[in-house]
Amino acid sequence: MKFILYLLLPVLLLGCNDSDEITDVDDTLSKQEMEDLQFLKEEEKLARDVYLFSYDLYGQNIFKNISNSEQSHMNSVSIIMEKYSIKDLSLAERGKFSNSILQDLYDDLITLASKSIEEALIVGATIEDLDINDLNEFVENTNHSDVETMYNKLNCGSRNHLRAYTNNLESLDVSYDPQFISVEEYNRILNDSGEKCNN
Ligand code: MN
Ligand code: MN
Repeated sequence: MKFILYLLLPVLLLGCNDSDEITDVDDTLSKQEMEDLQFLKEEEKLARDVYLFSYDLYGQNIFKNISNSEQSHMNSVSIIMEKYSIKDLSLAERGKFSNSILQDLYDDLITLASKSIEEALIVGATIEDLDINDLNEFVENTNHSDVETMYNKLNCGSRNHLRAYTNNLESLDVSYDPQFISVEEYNRILNDSGEKCNN
């Protein structure tokens, strides 16, 4: 009996070690995954800040409601960044970005949005179009299920936001042409109805 236990013991210990190793490997993100998360945090902030700008200007609830959703997207990215100890480069001040590409984009988008409510809604659709396109790419760059789940949740939210903006544009007889995702993907999203995204 004793002999059998001694034989079994190394097997049992090996079994434990194996699962520990899997957990260890899972705690490390690639450079690409880190950069994607840092970019995404500021990209979600760009959406929030542009919609707050449009809400201040036009007082339409669509901008307020979607900016609240972007705040919750920012929080979801922050949770993942904290879990993996990734430096958050985003700035607290509204309309300010440490990534110069996003700063330039923000400046261009608020200039457009300030022209008219139609332009502000087109800017909204443009941001969601870009976000979906970027999230489609980011999800390909990760092999961590928690990161992937968060990306999918944000993408789901963006599809709802895109539908909301295009429905509002439609009621003003304005159509939006996708600039980042394909026409096929755009039509597929518009043909779907509202999705539950577990926000
Ligand atoms: Mn978002
Ligand atoms: Mn959005």
